[in-house]
Amino acid sequence: MKSVTVELPNVDVQRKLFTTRFKADKTSHLSIRDVDVCRECKDKPCLWFCPAEVYKWEDERITIAFEGCLECGTCRIGCPFDNIDWRYPRGGFGVQYKFG
Ligand code: SF4
Ligand code: SF4
Repeated sequence: MKSVTVELPNVDVQRKLFTTRFKADKTSHLSIRDVDVCRECKDKPCLWFCPAEVYKWEDERITIAFEGCLECGTCRIGCPFDNIDWRYPRGGFGVQYKFG
């Protein structure tokens, strides 16, 4: 069988994210429902699946840098314990996509 070599594009995600602009609200549109559930969550996948690295594990709890949320919705389904309360930012706030 003939082998095929596919060259993947070299994409620098951090550089692309740098071009995104946000209008941050004062209050977060994301929250953790039960902090104790996070302590028991062994793998903490939210630290990995968020493309904007919004979730961090600091001082025995998850912190949320909601200002950088891209509103992709991954954390709505990615938390194995449905422990993230997710909603869109209020109208006029959040990510400002160039093409709508
Ligand atoms: Fe908490 Fe869900 Fe993150 Fe686990 S994946 S640490 S339960 S928010
Ligand atoms: Fe991260 Fe997407 Fe969830 Fe925003 S919606 S916190 S970008 S995974």
